[in-house]
Amino acid sequence: MVDAAIAAAVERHWPQAWRSLTDILAIPSVSAQGRGMEEAARYLHAFLSEMGAAVHLVATDGFPAVVGSLPGTPGAPSLLLYGHYDVQPEDPLALWHSPPFTPTVRDGVLYARGATDDKGNIMAALWGIRVAAALGLPRPHLRFCLEGEEEIGSPHLAQVLDACRHELAADACVLCDRGIHASGAAQIFLGNKGMVSVEITVTGAARDVHSSQAPLLPNAARQLVEIVARISSPAGEPRIPALLGDRRPPTPAERELLRRLPFARDAYAADYGLQAAQLLPPTDADRLAVLERLLFQPTANLQGFHAGYGGPGHKTIVPARATAKLDVRLVPDMERHRAAAAVREAVVAAARAAGVAEGALTVEVGADMDPYTAPVDHPAVQAAIAAGRRAYPGEPVVWPLVDGSGPLAAFARAIGGPAFLIGLGNPFERANTHAPDEKLDLDTFRRGIAMMATFLSGYAGGGQAGDHDAD
Ligand SMILES: [Zn+2]
Repeated sequence: MVDAAIAAAVERHWPQAWRSLTDILAIPSVSAQGRGMEEAARYLHAFLSEMGAAVHLVATDGFPAVVGSLPGTPGAPSLLLYGHYDVQPEDPLALWHSPPFTPTVRDGVLYARGATDDKGNIMAALWGIRVAAALGLPRPHLRFCLEGEEEIGSPHLAQVLDACRHELAADACVLCDRGIHASGAAQIFLGNKGMVSVEITVTGAARDVHSSQAPLLPNAARQLVEIVARISSPAGEPRIPALLGDRRPPTPAERELLRRLPFARDAYAADYGLQAAQLLPPTDADRLAVLERLLFQPTANLQGFHAGYGGPGHKTIVPARATAKLDVRLVPDMERHRAAAAVREAVVAAARAAGVAEGALTVEVGADMDPYTAPVDHPAVQAAIAAGRRAYPGEPVVWPLVDGSGPLAAFARAIGGPAFLIGLGNPFERANTHAPDEKLDLDTFRRGIAMMATFLSGYAGGGQAGDHDAD
């Protein structure tokens, strides 16, 4: 249970916390449209200043980042907190039941754009700090990086992290984003996959030609099918040995986390309109093997293939041009630049084997993101898990890495320490993020504040935060 003193302090601060949450939610900081951005950045600047933080806006070629620091307890470790103050566009407006930038409560639920993604997360974290301070609890030396461009792909985040390298240096980094688990338990994400994006184009004759000429003319579509088949298996695994050499299996600690993840194969399959037997192999595998495949299996996924004729009836042509797009998701310990080079080489070799002429192949490979996992036994991770156990019902759900790609590696590189994510918003299934009626349960916000106060004091005090547990 939450420490009684922390719970009581959250209640004492609730009117102010509530006001600041609704104040910032009323600012329409839509990065895609450039609205309200300065106003939201200035709001956070003022909020952090009032907390006693040294804070400044870092200008970028886009929207500013709010960067700051707040001294902690002498001898305590340092921690970088990340969040983003920009939100997704609110349309379609007609589907909202209350105006998106007029925070409205119905049945204990707050509705507003940004309620969970990500202003609710940010304000829970900042109020967690204030609550811990009010109680005189130990806290880490804090650094803040509140970005204004997350919803448009963080084009200048690397620039900010680089420009503020010394200021933001910390022992660990926590991204406050996403939500708690659907069960109501805490949810912590220790890693994410990486990504290499691939676009392959094969050209044949100067134009589509009558297929009577098929005996002599190269068919760009068929050649590209051959290339795709040579670099990826029917189950979507990369057939690129140079890529797979860097892959490592989950550690025993990560396997233990996998074992504890709530996951039901039948329900998962049903969610996608499939039978469990239709999932990719091995169909007879146990739960652990399925989760290991979901999270630790690199993929070369064919996302699109465009060539020739697809209309009604038939059109007897030899297609002159074909394009395929693939996403290659990377797992630990692959490295994006090395992976990108391996993919490019494999495509070139496959094209040669498919008989594609020199100059008829175009390959674009993007080394987009590195995979990343934080060590489970790091004190910051352990403090987060312990706090999650106190602030929410049930055992925290801890993902060794998520099934998607993300920016954790960039943060870990910037600080030279582990980076992970704590979800303080509503569960994904009950948040409507990026959609009409985005929401945050009042109880989730309340627990988020308690979670952060507990986590911060636990990390700073080496875990003593729970020693005077009272309820
Ligand atoms: Zn978002």
